[in-house]
Amino acid sequence: MVAEKGKENHQTSDKHDVLKSTQTVIHLALDKLGYPEEVFELLKEPVRMLTVKIPVRMDDGKVKVFTGYRSQHNDAVGPTKGGIRFHPNVTEKEVKALSIWMSLKCGIVDLPYGGGKGGIICDPRDMSFRELERLSRGYVRAISQIVGPSKDIPAPDVFTNSQIMAWMMDEYSRIDEYNSPGFITGKPLVLGGSHGRETATAKGVTICIREAAKKKGIKLEGARVVVQGFGNAGSFLAKFMHDAGAKVIGISDAYGGLHDVDGLDIDYLLDRRDSFGTVTKLFNNTISNQELLELDCDILVPAAIENQITEDNAHNIRASIVVEAANGPTTLDATKILTERGVLLVPDVLASSGGVTVSYFEWVQNNQGYYWSEEEVEEKLEKILINSFNNVYDTAQSRRVDMRLAAYMVGVRKMAEACRFRGWI
Ligand code: GLU
Repeated sequence: MVAEKGKENHQTSDKHDVLKSTQTVIHLALDKLGYPEEVFELLKEPVRMLTVKIPVRMDDGKVKVFTGYRSQHNDAVGPTKGGIRFHPNVTEKEVKALSIWMSLKCGIVDLPYGGGKGGIICDPRDMSFRELERLSRGYVRAISQIVGPSKDIPAPDVFTNSQIMAWMMDEYSRIDEYNSPGFITGKPLVLGGSHGRETATAKGVTICIREAAKKKGIKLEGARVVVQGFGNAGSFLAKFMHDAGAKVIGISDAYGGLHDVDGLDIDYLLDRRDSFGTVTKLFNNTISNQELLELDCDILVPAAIENQITEDNAHNIRASIVVEAANGPTTLDATKILTERGVLLVPDVLASSGGVTVSYFEWVQNNQGYYWSEEEVEEKLEKILINSFNNVYDTAQSRRVDMRLAAYMVGVRKMAEACRFRGWI
């Protein structure tokens, strides 16, 4: 009895292990594409993982030692690329999974990159501006040997922004003794950032929603949309949906959710949100994040954190389209349940690839020293995302697999081919 229970617990936690679940789908995708087992052996883990300790002098004079990671999944296609997350729940496993997802995103939108990711265990909500600067610079010094404009190019992620990218770029440029804008993307415009980078993830999600709605015969105008998370992706997305004539009836942050069947005043909420995407603390009549996910709506967008839609609530999801703006919000069991119920699930590795796509544009502009207009960026992003959505959708239809597996099949192919041509496998 006791052993059984232990086993059950272990299985339950495995189901929510983002690294294990991504490995499971990669294995399935490689099998479907006919690759031998050694390809999976190479791709199931990052080729390189660096753990660093970063001592930071805090404002009170004491030194605090932070732990950071940089994971490089695979560099067969080109330099690795991916954001840096500042969050108290960062783990080595999560950073590894996030770097694998970056490889898949780059494969899906066909960028000349492999996937990378970084993270620091910290809570920037409790840190001062100067403490954050010292931590950002310390992290760059600690990882400087394995990163660079043609090795591994970081970017923003959860709780990091253009100011943090600017400090990191400055620190790297000092170490390198050259101005190196191509070392990092998501920079402020004056330091070589790209037009459209800040809104890129939300723009990409918007394009996926539009394409998915067409497939489902749903009109965006008047459609009821629920967005979980009000950070960079969620807040801009709520705005774009609102501007497109959809009714955003629910939003949330880490502390709770707001619901109004007649549609929320998104402009007001955007105005009142803080830089960490918190806004619900200003209201009394909030609902829980779980209640928010189960609201009656047409389109549900999890834009916050991992493991939000699980086998426990997948049966209660009432949306007919779920578009994952966050990384890893739906477990594999929940993916199966939603797909069987006829919900069109647009997976994270496709839906959230707008950010890295415009990061690529930023890097290209830095390398050329020639900068594009906002219209040029938007036009190029639109083209890439529409193609990628349809490529994944058609693969799902023709191979009779769910959208997540289809996205992995599209995403992993170029990387596997590059490894083969290089003679690695
Ligand atoms: N952190 C973002 C992501 O998860 C963007 C990465 C990038 O721009 O390189 O896709």
